[in-house]
Amino acid sequence: MEMKKVFERGKPIFSMEIFPPKKNDPVSEIYSTLDGLVGLKPDFISCTYGAGGNPADTSTVDICREIEQKFHTLSIAHLTCVNSTREDIDRAIERFRAADIRNVLALRGDKNDKVPPKDDFKYASELIRYLKEKAPEISISAACYPETHPDSESVVSDILYMKEKEECGAEHFISQLFFDNEDFYAFREKTLIAGIKSPVEAGIMPVTSKEGILRMVSMCGASVPKKLSRILNRYENDPEALCDACTAYAIDQITDLIASGVDGIHLYTMNKPWLARRVYDAVKTLIRR
Ligand code: FAD
Repeated sequence: MEMKKVFERGKPIFSMEIFPPKKNDPVSEIYSTLDGLVGLKPDFISCTYGAGGNPADTSTVDICREIEQKFHTLSIAHLTCVNSTREDIDRAIERFRAADIRNVLALRGDKNDKVPPKDDFKYASELIRYLKEKAPEISISAACYPETHPDSESVVSDILYMKEKEECGAEHFISQLFFDNEDFYAFREKTLIAGIKSPVEAGIMPVTSKEGILRMVSMCGASVPKKLSRILNRYENDPEALCDACTAYAIDQITDLIASGVDGIHLYTMNKPWLARRVYDAVKTLIRR
């Protein structure tokens, strides 16, 4: 099913993100994660693509095929381009076709100091244009940044490049994680002023460790509001209390986003189905079903 059709059924939609098991972990590990997640009946599950952009890495497509065929749930396969040639992307398209994957989150990917970028694709919009031309059957999603992407020249340019992604063929956006809903609302207003019409899902990550989230925000440019900072400082040495407080924080964010008419909630599950269930159980009556 195309992403457009998912939103035609009504909003807010509820989706989740997982990542492939680490290199030396058994792929079967992902089955127990998926077993736990599909019971929550997400509108789709997306699966990330290795940050190094190794074109030989087929685990994302393999997992998306399982999500669709074994777990009967719609999937989105992430795909990055900064370390790929056109031939690499052609091979990815062949793999999508062989696995009957119809939805792709087209990304630039983070630049990696150890892997010099290839020349064929500099930005996600170039990948989107290429996919649209070579594989028109694929429905394309893209990333967006409520607090602006860290490499951006300015807030305005970041929004205009987001619009470019839509003009090239992106039909749906998923946001970077954020912890202050006011940042998302201000961003959403700017996207509407810029004429971006595609639905934008809000990316929500329930925090489970102070160290982990501080590392994450330093990479992705998200900020930590005082309210969350107080929780992290107070409970950093009490993992159970930290998890309880941060789950309540994520639930509060989601409740407010849904009350404000958000298109969808995209939960960064970090492959923790028990955490996704706690969040889902608290908001399930607010989600369209
Ligand atoms: P782009 O849209 O290309 O933007 C990158 C930067 O370039 C921005 O600052 C933008 O303003 C600027 N820009 C865009 N076009 C132009 C232009 N024409 N001229 C000048 N500047 C321009 N990474 C992974 O490796 N694997 C994943 O699976 C993955 N999944 C993600 C899922 C989501 C929902 C999000 C939000 C991010 C994900 N990332 C993933 C991280 C992502 O790859 C990084 O944030 C990356 O740095 C930017 O990717 P992008 O597709 O947003 O890039």
